[in-house]
Amino acid sequence: MLFALLHGVFISFISNWLMPKYERYSLVKKTRESPSVWTLEFAPKEGEVFSYRAGQFAIVKNIHVPPEIKHNFRSYSILHPFDGKKLCFGIKVEGEFTAALAGLSEGSEVEISGPFGLFGIPEEKPGKEAGLENLEANKMAGKGAFEKEGAGLREEGASENLASAQKVPKYVFLAGGVGITPLLCMIEELLQKGKKGICLFYSNKYLEEVAYKKLLDGYAAKYLNLKLIYSITRECPPGVKCETGHIGFNVIKKHCPEMKGAHFFICGSKGFADAINSQLLEGGVGKERVHCEKW
Ligand SMILES: Cc1cc2nc3c(=O)[nH]c(=O)nc-3n(C[C@H](O)[C@H](O)[C@H](O)COP(=O)(O)OP(=O)(O)OC[C@H]3O[C@@H](n4cnc5c(N)ncnc54)[C@H](O)[C@@H]3O)c2cc1C
Repeated sequence: MLFALLHGVFISFISNWLMPKYERYSLVKKTRESPSVWTLEFAPKEGEVFSYRAGQFAIVKNIHVPPEIKHNFRSYSILHPFDGKKLCFGIKVEGEFTAALAGLSEGSEVEISGPFGLFGIPEEKPGKEAGLENLEANKMAGKGAFEKEGAGLREEGASENLASAQKVPKYVFLAGGVGITPLLCMIEELLQKGKKGICLFYSNKYLEEVAYKKLLDGYAAKYLNLKLIYSITRECPPGVKCETGHIGFNVIKKHCPEMKGAHFFICGSKGFADAINSQLLEGGVGKERVHCEKW
């Protein structure tokens, strides 16, 4: 009996991966976020969006791509926490497929399948290190929204709290370019839950290339519990607060001196993710606390 049940679960898992089930969606809004990154918002033609966890991805099939483009589908991380109504993706125009996707006009139809992937914030077990925080989050459950009491909003004269909220980061995010997408979703979810100690290092070649800057600056200005560090590998323009060069362990330590117990989430190109991963491991971070997604 148990064997039959497990066998059924296994078969449905495998067949979902091999033959994803697609639903029809319409492009409802397109927004340019940087010279090469677009946010595309899709609404289901019927019913609700499938439920997903922050950090997961979906497969987008562009049924309009010209036949000469190899494969008419690609994977994209989901940009914002679940709201049941829309699926948003942050897409960097790189090759022919993304050019065709970003070129779609509002109202165009695509097919989407999901959710997929295990990248995300590990579930907290009550009584463990994060137990206390979990309890706080549970107390706040139901209040939900970012604006609610206790969600770590910045207030005037809150500098002391600010220092203590940022001293012990629980969640350190490291994004390389468009790798910000799943991390943004996770950060928004943590902010919604009023979690403390969130640190984001966001690396780009030039400041003009930083996608979602206005949104992130807005969160950092509003939420005591979010520390935001831009890292620009070329030159940081005068008057702008950012780190220059590649993110190394020293830079992480400088901004997050107390890293005990923190989880690290890395997303970006293979080169970016591998470099940060080795820096963290060499710096003594346990590999069970490093979560990595590379494309
Ligand atoms: C789990 C997951 C999540 C992802 N999430 C996101 C996301 O949120 N946002 C996002 O933008 N991407 C994401 N990606 C990447 C995405 O799936 C695509 O791989 C990406 O959009 C590439 O787009 P493309 O097909 O237009 O480029 P491709 O045509 O596949 O080209 C990719 C790269 O190869 C180069 N290239 C193409 N053809 C040639 C050639 N003949 N010679 C030399 N170079 C060439 C292109 O210039 C480009 O740099 C994700 C991938 C995975 C696996």
